[in-house]
Amino acid sequence: MLQDNLKNVEENIKAACERAGRKREEVTLIAVSKTKPVSMLQEIYDCGIRNFGENKVQEICEKREQLPGDIKWHMIGHLQRNKVKYIIGDVELIHSVDTYRLAEEINIQAKKIHRVVPVLVEVNIAGESTKFGISGEETLQLVEEISKLENIRIKGLMTIAPFVENPEENRPYFQKIKKIAVDIAGKNIDNVSMDILSMGMTGDYMVAIEEGATMVRVGTGIFGARNYNK
Ligand SMILES: *Cc1c(COP(=O)(O)O)cnc(C)c1O
Repeated sequence: MLQDNLKNVEENIKAACERAGRKREEVTLIAVSKTKPVSMLQEIYDCGIRNFGENKVQEICEKREQLPGDIKWHMIGHLQRNKVKYIIGDVELIHSVDTYRLAEEINIQAKKIHRVVPVLVEVNIAGESTKFGISGEETLQLVEEISKLENIRIKGLMTIAPFVENPEENRPYFQKIKKIAVDIAGKNIDNVSMDILSMGMTGDYMVAIEEGATMVRVGTGIFGARNYNK
C-alpha cells in the first residue's frame, strides 16, 4: 500500500516537473515520517527513499538508531535551542532556522564537533500568526546576520504555505518566496547560496514544483493520515 502511495507521488512529481520544463533530478522528495512507526519508514526505505523529514528532535534520535545509517534526516520542525546539541551531528539539513539566536546556538554546537552545518531559513510567507518563520520583509536581514557565523552555511529558504482546499491559492506564496530567494542570491552574500527551496506538502507539492521547489516534504501522501491521539 505504501508502495502504491509512493508510486503515485513519484508520478505526480514527474508530471509537475514536465509541466514546468524542469528535470526530475532537480527535485528531492522528503518523506515526512513524523508520528509513523519505524516499520513504515523501513518500507519506504526499501522502495529507495533516503531522505526523511521529522519535526521532533526526540523522534529523530529514536528512529535513527533503529534504521539504516545511510538515511538523510531532515529537521523540518520548530527547533528549541537547548535541543540543538542532540541532532547537530546527525542531520542532513535543518530547514527551520528562523531566529538569529537559534542560528547562534547551531553555530556553537557545530564548532564543537568541527563541522559546518547547512541550514535553511524558514519564512512565514503568508504571515500567519500560528506559524513560525521570519517575515518575507525581514528575511534578507536575517540571512545577512547569520551569514557571519563561521560554522553555518545558509543553503536556501523553507516555507510552510497555508492549509488550503485548492492548492492554486498557494501559488502566489510560492512565487513570492522564489522571488525573495532570487533577490538574495543576487546579493552574492559570502557563505550564502539560494540553491534550495523547500516548499510544498501533500496538498500543494505539484504547484510548488511548478514554482521552483527543489525539495518537497510529503507526509500524508506517502504514509497516510496521522493520528496524534495514539
Ligand atoms: C508535517 C509536515 C509536512 C508534511 O505534511 P503533509 O501535509 O502530511 O504532507 C511538511 N512540512 C512540515 C514542516 C511538516 O511539519
